[in-house]
Amino acid sequence: MAYIVQANVLTQDPQKPHAEAVLVVQGRVQGVGSLPEMQAMMPSAEVLDHSGKILTPGLTDAHIHLVRYGFRLSQLDLEGSTSVEEVQQKLQAYASRKPEGWIVGGGYTVTELGLTDYPTRALLDEVVVDRPVLLYSRDLHSAWANSKALELAGLTHATPDPEGGELVRSEGDLTGYLLEAATELVSSSLPTPTWEETVDAARLAVQTLRNFGYTAVHTMAFEPADDLRALMHLEQNGELPLRVWACIPHTELDHAVQLGLYGGLGDRVKLGGVKFFLDGALGSQTAWMLSPGYQNPQATPMILDQPELIRERAEKALQYGFIPTVHAIGDQANRTLLDLYSELKPLADQKGLRLRLEHAQHLSRADIQRFADLQVTASMQPVHLIGDARLVRELVPHLEDTTYAVKSLQDAGALLAFGSDAPVANPDPQLSFAAATQRLGTDGKPFSPQERLTPEETLWAHTRGPALAVGWQDYGIIQPGARADFSLWDELGGKAEALTFNGI
Ligand SMILES: [Zn+2]
Repeated sequence: MAYIVQANVLTQDPQKPHAEAVLVVQGRVQGVGSLPEMQAMMPSAEVLDHSGKILTPGLTDAHIHLVRYGFRLSQLDLEGSTSVEEVQQKLQAYASRKPEGWIVGGGYTVTELGLTDYPTRALLDEVVVDRPVLLYSRDLHSAWANSKALELAGLTHATPDPEGGELVRSEGDLTGYLLEAATELVSSSLPTPTWEETVDAARLAVQTLRNFGYTAVHTMAFEPADDLRALMHLEQNGELPLRVWACIPHTELDHAVQLGLYGGLGDRVKLGGVKFFLDGALGSQTAWMLSPGYQNPQATPMILDQPELIRERAEKALQYGFIPTVHAIGDQANRTLLDLYSELKPLADQKGLRLRLEHAQHLSRADIQRFADLQVTASMQPVHLIGDARLVRELVPHLEDTTYAVKSLQDAGALLAFGSDAPVANPDPQLSFAAATQRLGTDGKPFSPQERLTPEETLWAHTRGPALAVGWQDYGIIQPGARADFSLWDELGGKAEALTFNGI
């Protein structure tokens, strides 16, 4: 089948940035130009008249936990809560709507609740005492449990802290607040979702993303294996309206290699990355910072995967065609990872792969140019800055100018790939565009406004940037040979709609 899409086309192709029509044949772009030119190329093609709308390459969310987001859509949503009382009220309401079993939710941050210290289980017990409650912080690096949840998980004051985590205590007793790996001591007691529940969550996630106008996502790892299986199941059933670039956890790399798997394998769901975590996150005060670090002396920076382990496994990942995909938030974590990547760069070049760094959230000014020099993808989530603006001013005020430094990175020549980190944040692209172009925190104050991007620059980081990051040369651009995955807009950065020509 052949179609001509008539619209205000923004191609992302510097040779021909604007056009009025695109000829699509069998899911690929065959021509870009004026309507008469396209009609001359293929007189039988059906014309789809979207004149008055903007047509761009399809949007990509370059950092998402796809199926987890689907689950989150049905959990207790605490995003935007500004007090413990508000959390208690929402918990109360949710508990009466869902009268049985575990209550799982998330989306709050400790400081947004107006607290200077971690909250305690007693505050949750006041509302729900007979059922387990587990509430994740927005960054998912910590959680707040009630007494019943601790009891079911078998945790007592005698339980030691796990490696890479901490059970927050007060006078020796468990407070119910859990940092990093300690959250797993409770979450491991959650009933495992059934296969049907997982497929339902996957379906809900991909449909929601598609409705936002996305045509592709990069999904991260460390989720249960059923998450990836569910996406492959949707693909087999013709129910996957997105292209998915997926990471495997570094702990499974050896198994993948033993099975003969390699980076780039797959069709609509492609295995591509190997995921690591170097440090924690800002809101939970576990990100790894250079001196002077946090204002709060009680902060607990954490190194999660040791740099030496990352170096060794990232090298193996590259050898088998997988892209090392490493979470680094703090300025110390970013510097350490860039040091490590400078050692791996020759191998990455030899394999034609681009190293990538997830979040790049707080940088030392001296490290910004290194992203460009090492051709490391800066995979960033501008939407986080809305909530983080206030946190940065409270926790690490000296870093405001180099936090989410997207414009500086772009000007230095670094490759930007934007995502949402959903379910950590809402993946609505309107929020991402607003965050990148306006940089307003929830307090309404501009946050390092010199780092604002234009809507066109933001579009690039949501389309061509992610495609180049994963080596999809025929994606995120409208030129002959490219995949015909598009987004349609009334206004760039407003509501988008996906338009694709290959199956669904
Ligand atoms: Zn993430």
